[in-house]
Formats: sequence, structure tokens, C-alpha cells
Amino acid sequence: MEFKNSQKLYSKGLKHLVGAVNSPVRAFASVGGNPLFIKKAKGSKITDVDNNTFVDLVLSYGPMILGHRHKKVQKAIDKALKNGYTFGASTKNEIRLAKIVCDAFPAMDKVRFVNSGTEAVLSALRLARAFTGHDKIIKFAGCYHGHSDALLVAAGSGLVTLSIPGSKGVPEGAVKNTLIAEYNNLESVKAHFEAHDDIAGVILEPVAGNMGVVTPKEGFLKELKAYLESKGALLIVDEVMTGFRSKFGGAQELFNVEGDITCLGKVIGGGFPVGAYGARNEIMEMVSPLGGMYQAGTLSGNPIAMAAGISTLTELKKQNPYEKFNAVAEKIEGFLLASAKENGVEMTVNRFGSMINPFFTNVTVTNFEEAQTSDTKRFATFFWEMMHNGVFLPPSQFEAWFLSSALSEKDLEKIKKAIEAGMLAVSKM
Ligand SMILES: *Cc1c(COP(=O)(O)O)cnc(C)c1O
Repeated sequence: MEFKNSQKLYSKGLKHLVGAVNSPVRAFASVGGNPLFIKKAKGSKITDVDNNTFVDLVLSYGPMILGHRHKKVQKAIDKALKNGYTFGASTKNEIRLAKIVCDAFPAMDKVRFVNSGTEAVLSALRLARAFTGHDKIIKFAGCYHGHSDALLVAAGSGLVTLSIPGSKGVPEGAVKNTLIAEYNNLESVKAHFEAHDDIAGVILEPVAGNMGVVTPKEGFLKELKAYLESKGALLIVDEVMTGFRSKFGGAQELFNVEGDITCLGKVIGGGFPVGAYGARNEIMEMVSPLGGMYQAGTLSGNPIAMAAGISTLTELKKQNPYEKFNAVAEKIEGFLLASAKENGVEMTVNRFGSMINPFFTNVTVTNFEEAQTSDTKRFATFFWEMMHNGVFLPPSQFEAWFLSSALSEKDLEKIKKAIEAGMLAVSKM
């Protein structure tokens, strides 16, 4: 498999783009080599500029849950495009998407659409502060909530991969109200409440996907919510990754927990830039124009993005692929563990619905510290072998692999063979 055209574009791209990418997770910093340039994608597959076709387990880091260019989504977008691109005024489709979202998430009476997950989360923090009158926010080490200043501490995703301790350019003042707790450890949350009396709330990924996949321990979310309620603090559930992916109603439905504020992104835009935050009326009425918390956006509720979101969620609800996702992920887990065993490679596999990833460690991974025991050099070798065998993976140990409902039996067979080749290569290191 050759990557000549990608290499050429990469060299060219370096001149006017930073690292030739527009998001650092797309750089191949932790696996070596150059990033691929993509030409097109359809269904479960993605094709690069050298005409290599891969089974896509990146899916744009989550949004493309139906696979690429599902015909109903494409049709809805084509139709919307004919009416104009953006108006700076409300459209009927915003109401339709809001209803779909609020029906799926009982914790939300009202929703505000924004343009990215980052924007949804930073707005949700502002709202939590406005509602409680408190400034401090607790986040968990290894959870990623976008790149707003206050949350760029102990974050996962590209920050782990690139080993950036937080980020340069974030003033101390911006993170002084951010407290860090350990995922799956309620005591670490309680310790902060004992030390501070001005905590607005706790933000978390209900299933973490940005330190690799890490699931909440039995009872963790429920106990956390009950504890926060007793303290008058809010639970901010960042479902940017898990919303409509773990289940139509997100991880909150699966774990039977209602957050006070919910953040969404990725899947709800069907491949277009959409984020959202929502809550019960009492909280959302704080948001301008009803209340005094300001938040705005020129392109928010963009008509093309709304059409893509509505058609994606409508089709998703109809397909209801969640059981299939579990079964497919279970199979992939089986391939990974069997092949690791056969080749004497230490391995822990974590998965949740359509999110799965292997850690090259024998440690059970329930938090950020444990995730970091994974041998990232092994991952890099494994990654390239998977690529050469036609499976496109996120170029980082600490990103989840995503499944789409377009995956076929044939794709699974390809994934199995690639895993076997990958594990063999790792065993020879
Ligand atoms: C991706 C992600 C974000 C950030 O969303 P962007 O659209 O990349 O800004 C926030 N939170 C979680 C849990 C995410 O997975």
C-alpha cells in the first residue's frame, strides 16, 4: 500500500496549514509517518488520495454513525441547499431537530444549538455558573470537553497523545476555578466539596472516550448525581460523543440517570458542525433572550446542518442499530483478545456500545492513570499494520474506535484479518 499522494499533499500543506492539519488529533504524531489525505467516503468505507480504500473506524471521530453519505441524509442536504445556506433568522427545521433531541433526552425541556461540542460545553459551564451563582467546576482527569480555556487541564484526546500538559496560552486565572477529580472515584469529588463551598457543578463524559474507552463503574453516575443534589450542585453530562451513539437517548438513558445540563455534538449534526446544550426549563430560562446568560452565534442552527441532523437522527431511530452495535463490538473484542492471546501480547479491551478500543497493557483500565499504562509504541506498530491491511483507525492509543451501522460481514472479516496481522507484528517487536 502506497501513500505517495498523501505524502506530497502533506509536504505542500505544511506551508500554510499548521502541521498540515486543522485539528491536532489528525496529525500522526504518536504513530509516526504522515497523515492521510482523504478523497471521498461512502458507507462503511473511506478512500484516500492514493485510491487506497479502508474500512472506516474513525468516522470523523464519531459523527458518521450511519456510515458516509447515507442516501436519505444526502437527499435532505441536497434539498436544503436549494433554499439557501444561512439566514440569520429562525427556520422550521430548528424546531423539528429540537423536538427530536428533547424527546430523546427527558432531562431536556429546551435546547440551544451551537456550532461545535467545544461551544456547547463552554456555554453549559457558563449556564451552570449563572444558575448556581458559584464559580468552581469539577472535571475528571482524562475527560475531554473541547478546547475552551477552563477545561484544558488534565484533558484527554489530543492532549494525551501529544503529552501537552494542559496548554500554553491558558492563563492561570482561567483554570483557577477548575478542580480535578479521578474518574470512577466519588471520594475524590467529595474531597473537593469538603474544601470548597462555591462549586457550581461537576462535568463528565458519562462513558469516557477520550482517554480510550473507559466505562463508569456500577452505580458511579447515580451516586454522583445523588451526592450533587444533596450539595445543590449541578451534574453536567457531556454527551458530545455518547449522545445518540450509546443509545438514542444517550448514556443517560442507559444508566437511568438525568443530568442537570446535557451537552451534545458529533452525531446530532450528521457530519455538519452542530453542538447543543439543554436542560429543564428552570435552567434554560436563564439563557438570553429569556434570561441574563448571554450566548449567541451567527451560524447557529444552520439550515443545512439542521437538515443533516434531522435526517440522520430520523434514520438512526428507524434503524435502531444499538443491539447490532453491541454484537459487532463483542465480535471485535473477541478478535482482539483471541489474537492477543495467540501472539502472547498483553491486552485489555474496553468497549461500550459502538465505541471500543484495545489497550496494550494487562492492567484493568477504569481511569486515566490506568489508561496510561498502555504501551503506545505497540499501538503505533499495530496501527500501521491495521492501515496496511485496509482498516482506518484513529492515530492514537487514546481515541475510541467507532462503529457505523453500515459495517458489513465482509468488513468485519477484513477487520479480523487486520487485527491478526497487527498482533503478529506487535509480537515481533
Ligand atoms: C469531541 C468532544 C468534544 C468537543 O467537540 P468539538 O466538536 O470537537 O468541539 C467535547 N466533549 C466530548 C466528550 C467530545 O468527545
